[in-house]
Amino acid sequence: MISNKKALEMIDVISNMFPNAECELVHDNPFELTIAVLLSAQTTDISVNKLTNTLFQKYKTPEDYLNVELSELENDIKTIGLYRNKAKNIQKLCQSLLIKYNGKIPETHQELESLAGVGRKTANVVMSVAFGEPSLAVDTHVERVSKRLGICRWKDNVRQVEDKICKVVPRERWNKTHHQLIFFGRYHCLARSPKCDICPLLEDCREGQKRYKASLKEA
Ligand code: SF4
Repeated sequence: MISNKKALEMIDVISNMFPNAECELVHDNPFELTIAVLLSAQTTDISVNKLTNTLFQKYKTPEDYLNVELSELENDIKTIGLYRNKAKNIQKLCQSLLIKYNGKIPETHQELESLAGVGRKTANVVMSVAFGEPSLAVDTHVERVSKRLGICRWKDNVRQVEDKICKVVPRERWNKTHHQLIFFGRYHCLARSPKCDICPLLEDCREGQKRYKASLKEA
């Protein structure tokens, strides 16, 4: 694993590449954001935005999601993956929101994570994006990028990845860094075809070096 100093230098390079990175899930309030994050599991933000563009016109409150049969909600979100599970989770979330918090999204990590269907990643995104509280959610992009660069170990779980990045990056930068790492993974260090040949981090990146050497052998 690389030193904290080196890790921060790498993250600084990524920050400079994507200075304007931000949440790409379209939403108007914390409730819509929470629903959008639940819908986004293993699906692109583009697909979620396409869906929520109409979904949020029909469903505005937790009651709205509970006033329909599960099959109707499933039908309304069936354009995205895992829609059956997601429909079930949305109704469970809305039920627990009404029971515990009067239908309002709570503003602490602990309360958010007490809601059905809300895990640490979702809670971190909501705390950061909706309430501006320093948090660093680890999604598939953040995990892949930080492991490829050697900031974390391959065997680290998502909580260990989160802890490591939060140790390296100053707290006031956590929210921005979260989006910048996502943009870097989404648009540059892609899962299947990372752009190593034009990457400013190639020299120091263990995964990039491995790929570069393999490509030389193939040539
Ligand atoms: S060198 Fe390749 S694998 Fe490494 S960070 Fe850059 S794009 Fe990703």
